[in-house]
Amino acid sequence: MDFELSEELTMVRDMAREFAVAELAPRAAKHDRQGYIDPEVFTQLGELGLWGLTVPEEHGGAGLGNLALAVVLEELNHACASTGVTVSVHNSLLGAPLRRFGSEEQKRTWLPRLATGETIGCYCLTEPNAGSDAASLATTARLEGEEGVLDGTKIWVTNGGIAGLAIVYARTDSEASRAKGISAFLVPMDTPGVEIGKSERKTGIRGSSTTEVVLEGARIPADHLLGERDRGFMIAMDTLDGGRIGIASQAVGIGRACLDASVTYARDREQFGRPIGDFQAVQWKIADMATRLDAARLLTHRAAVVRDSGGRCSLEAAQAKLAASTTANFCADECLQIHGGAGYTDDFEVERLFRDARITEIYEGATDIQRIVISRSLLTA
Ligand SMILES: Cc1cc2nc3c(=O)[nH]c(=O)nc-3n(C[C@H](O)[C@H](O)[C@H](O)COP(=O)(O)OP(=O)(O)OC[C@H]3O[C@@H](n4cnc5c(N)ncnc54)[C@H](O)[C@@H]3O)c2cc1C
Repeated sequence: MDFELSEELTMVRDMAREFAVAELAPRAAKHDRQGYIDPEVFTQLGELGLWGLTVPEEHGGAGLGNLALAVVLEELNHACASTGVTVSVHNSLLGAPLRRFGSEEQKRTWLPRLATGETIGCYCLTEPNAGSDAASLATTARLEGEEGVLDGTKIWVTNGGIAGLAIVYARTDSEASRAKGISAFLVPMDTPGVEIGKSERKTGIRGSSTTEVVLEGARIPADHLLGERDRGFMIAMDTLDGGRIGIASQAVGIGRACLDASVTYARDREQFGRPIGDFQAVQWKIADMATRLDAARLLTHRAAVVRDSGGRCSLEAAQAKLAASTTANFCADECLQIHGGAGYTDDFEVERLFRDARITEIYEGATDIQRIVISRSLLTA
């Protein structure tokens, strides 16, 4: 067992860290305030090859795996969680299922555009009445001759307002129960009948785009079916295994930013004639943050290695997300406490980190759902 990153991954991490420190960190508060990511960041991410990190080299990407993505996402999220989730969703919720289940024609058409960032991807599973219970989704896809006709409303779509391509999960067999009659479709966002609905005003990750995607008689060629008909729910769940590793990496990045901010403040702030870092109560908070973060990172990297080796990683990904997301919120809470009243204002970045950390326990399966995945795999083994 080797706990060190390879030379190649160390270089990738350093490149991502350099970019995050120089370009993202100075913009994070602005992204949060203005509600979108600066366009030049999209260009820079493309120049660094980060949109196509996991796209195979033959399709114009860097051909790296989930461990590389985890390492990069920690760095991006350490600086700006809005940018981090945008890159995570693009790579793990759209690029990965296309790579794993797409036809050669679909891969040739879309992967090169995803690799450069010319096309940004999004993932449309959640609906107003289908959140944690995604198998109850109601969007329909009627197959008429050589076309599929999509009707329904998807909500909470990350990248919805900036995406050129979506994976839409829809019911193709109304007789089949729940998960069995669902299929996945590649839907170009400029298809007539696809509309961007309400844009969400969120507590955190405010620079990222989150919208409704409304489908009204949206016609797509039948060959836009991704994978086998009626097997879409399996694709959705396999995709979330990878996505959860991305969100775990996001949580570790946000948590690490909280730790760094805590250390700086504990050194600088003086009370009772000495730095507050001299008090054991503050020291213990910092020790617990650092220890829980290292454990969360190890679980995250383990899940990524299992996925890269081709095995199923549902258990490992759920454990990583559970540990990392609860750790990020623990770190944000302790960091705010260490900052005292100053932490409760937007003069310090902990106010944003506190809001950004919160989402990691909700999307791509809430904390309770991770616990269900973990306990089910043990109780039914
Ligand atoms: C900012 C943001 C971005 C998102 N991006 C996307 C995206 O790109 N694509 C997409 O498809 N979706 C996306 N989502 C949706 C997200 O995955 C869902 O919000 C999440 O799965 C929870 O569903 P819900 O909000 O409907 O909550 P609900 O399912 O209504 O859950 C509410 C509460 O009940 C608990 N609960 C539910 N069922 C159980 C159970 N069986 N046992 C115990 N507790 C339970 C949950 O843990 C939660 O605490 C996003 C959401 C947000 C907020």
